[in-house]
Amino acid sequence: MTVAAKNIPITVFRTPSEMQAWSRDRRREGKTIGCVPTMGALHDGHLSLIRASAAGCDETIVTIFVNPTQFGPDEDLGKYPRDEASDLKLAVAAGATSAYCPAVEVMYPENSSVHVVEVNISTGLCGESRPFHFRGVTTVVSKLFNACLPDRAYFGMKDYQQLLVLRRMVRDLDFLLEIVGCPIVREPDGLAMSSRNKYLTDKARVDALCLRKGLDIAEQAFENGIRDPKVIGEMVRDSIKQVESAEIDYIECRDAEDLSEIETIENPAVVALAVTIGKTRLIDNTVLSPDKERKDV
Ligand code: AMP
Repeated sequence: MTVAAKNIPITVFRTPSEMQAWSRDRRREGKTIGCVPTMGALHDGHLSLIRASAAGCDETIVTIFVNPTQFGPDEDLGKYPRDEASDLKLAVAAGATSAYCPAVEVMYPENSSVHVVEVNISTGLCGESRPFHFRGVTTVVSKLFNACLPDRAYFGMKDYQQLLVLRRMVRDLDFLLEIVGCPIVREPDGLAMSSRNKYLTDKARVDALCLRKGLDIAEQAFENGIRDPKVIGEMVRDSIKQVESAEIDYIECRDAEDLSEIETIENPAVVALAVTIGKTRLIDNTVLSPDKERKDV
């Protein structure tokens, strides 16, 4: 059913058929549609994607869905921040023209038994410590694409592995849309914005700066001519290890196009890391581009 959100000038769709009907009408009018998938708790990182879509497309659909299938059993699904009304206000101000916010039962009818699985790019890094995470992401994003029928979909480089997995999915399954990757938005002190930053205590918030500091060290080493991904990874590790509360999940320097392991950095490489500070798992990354100036993502 279509529901206009109370006092917020945006139409919210709650079922795939209603969302599809709206998108098909817009397409018939010749309009281009951008889609920005989110799990809500919107911050400036999400809003930058909505702004990019609004700048490049006639219509922008923000989707808000906390997807249970991409959380592990011991993860934060239950306490994930949810505030739809406030998210919708922010989304409208950033340029969203409609929203898709299905309930879990609508997204996953009883006896749902089909998954979309990427088996290469999704296996290492976050895929290793979060075994079914990317299967949840590729499945839900496929369903969001089928509901929203976008011409373009906007994703943050903050979730670098996710971006590559989704690009591969769109290519391999012939989705008729373009994936647009957008730069990481950071707090003034360098911490990458994340809905999970809300979990950080004051001390953990300070300790969390070790992620960006580690990436700075990687960028500096690269600028100084170091091209061995292992050496760069070890330098980042040594720096982060100095913070007592930091528990390193992974620090990897891989090929930036497909996350394959590399011996030396000859083509763009990504330094990606996941670190738990206290109880909060944070991710961040930077792309190192040979023959270019430092590239800040
Ligand atoms: P999430 O709600 O965490 O699933 O994120 C929804 C989208 O926002 C994903 O494409 C993320 O990569 C993107 N995103 C999250 N944080 C940032 C950030 N700090 N900068 C840019 N994009 C972000």
